[in-house]
Amino acid sequence: MSNITVSARFRPPSSKERIDHGDGICIRSLDLETFVFKDEKQEEYTFSFDRVFYEGSEQADVFEFLALPIVRDAVNGINGTIITYGQTGAGKTYSMEGPSILDCDEQKKGLLPRVVGELFNALKISEDASKYTIKLSMVEIYMEKVRDLFDLSKDNVQIKENKMQGILLSGVTEISLLDHADALQSLSSGIANRAVGETQMNMASSRSHCAYIFTVQRELTTDKRVKTGKLILVDLAGSEKIEKTGATGRILEEAKTINKSLSALGNVINALTCGPPSKANHIPFRDSKLTRLLQDALGGNSQTALLCCCSPSLSNASESLSTLHFGARAKHIKASPRVSSKEDKYEKKHGAPTLANDESCKRIQ
Ligand code: ADP
Ligand code: MG
Repeated sequence: MSNITVSARFRPPSSKERIDHGDGICIRSLDLETFVFKDEKQEEYTFSFDRVFYEGSEQADVFEFLALPIVRDAVNGINGTIITYGQTGAGKTYSMEGPSILDCDEQKKGLLPRVVGELFNALKISEDASKYTIKLSMVEIYMEKVRDLFDLSKDNVQIKENKMQGILLSGVTEISLLDHADALQSLSSGIANRAVGETQMNMASSRSHCAYIFTVQRELTTDKRVKTGKLILVDLAGSEKIEKTGATGRILEEAKTINKSLSALGNVINALTCGPPSKANHIPFRDSKLTRLLQDALGGNSQTALLCCCSPSLSNASESLSTLHFGARAKHIKASPRVSSKEDKYEKKHGAPTLANDESCKRIQ
C-alpha cells in the first residue's frame, strides 16, 4: 500500500512582495501541522498537513522530516518518490537543490545533496551488504517529451515497462556514482544541461518537470541476493494557471500540457491513497508521461512525500490556495473552513479538476 506524507512550505516573502504588500501575509500558524490561511477577500481556511514548514524553517528540518525515512527505505529496496509542487517562484527548486548544488552553505543545502549524502552513509554502514551501487539518471519532461539531461541528443526517450525491472527509460544515460562528491558533480552537470537546453529551445525550466532518478542496489552478504530500490525526486513545472492570463500560442499549449500532467499526478495519488488497485480503483498511470515515469516509484509498496511550496504573500493567495487544496486532497485531508463552508465555495468557483472526487474513494473504501 502506498504511503504518502504531505507537507506545506512557506518561503520568506521576497523583497518585491514586501514592497508591494508590506505586511500582507496570508498565513497564521497555529502549530507545526495546522495554520489559518486568509485570502484577498478575507476568507479564512484552516489547513492541516503532516507538517508545515514556516518562513524560518531550516533545510535540514525539511530533509529530516520528509526525505530521511524514504532514503533509508530505498536502501532496503523500497521505492520512494519526493515531489515539490507549487507555482513558479514558490520555492520548489530551493527546497530540492538549495541555492547551488556544488557551492553553498551547509545550512542552505537542499534535499538532493542531503539525499545523496544519506544514501552513501546508509550503504556504508549496512552490515549485511557486500557490494553496493548507486546509479543516477536525470530527465526533463517538456510538452510530453522526455529528454536525457546527461545526453541532450536523446530528446525523446521512450518509457517502457519490463516484467523484471518495471518502468524503464529506454536508452537513457545512467551514471554510476562513486561517492558523495562525485554525485554532486553529476547532479550539477545535469542541472547545467537543463540550462543549456533552455536557451537552445527558448523554454524556461519552470515549464518542465525535472526528475532525478536514483537506483540503489545492494548485494546481500548472506545469499548474494540483490536488493534494488528506486528513489525519484521530482521538481515539478509551475502549477500556475496561465490560461487565465490570456496567454496564447506556445505559452498556452505549455500551460495546458502542464495542467494535464499535474492533474494526472493528482488523480494517481488520489487513487493510490484510496486503497489497493482493483477494477473499481483503476490507477491512471498512463494518462501522462510524468505518472508513467513515476509508476513504480509511486505504486506498490512505496513511500511518497509531497512538498507543497507556497508564497506567504497575499499577492499570490489564489495560487497558494490552489496548491494547498492539491496537497489536502492528495491526503484526503479536508481543508476545514473556519467561516461557513468556504471549501465548497472554493470548489464551486474553481472546480477541483486536479484530483478525482472524494466520493469515488469513499465507495472503494
Ligand atoms: P520555484 O523553483 O518554485 O520556481 P525557487 O526555488 O526558484 O522557486 O524560489 C524562488 C526564489 O525564492 C529564489 O530566489 C529562492 O532562492 C527563494 N527562496 C525560495 N524558498 C526559499 C526559502 N525557504 N528560504 C529562502 N529563500 C527561498
Ligand atoms: Mg524552479
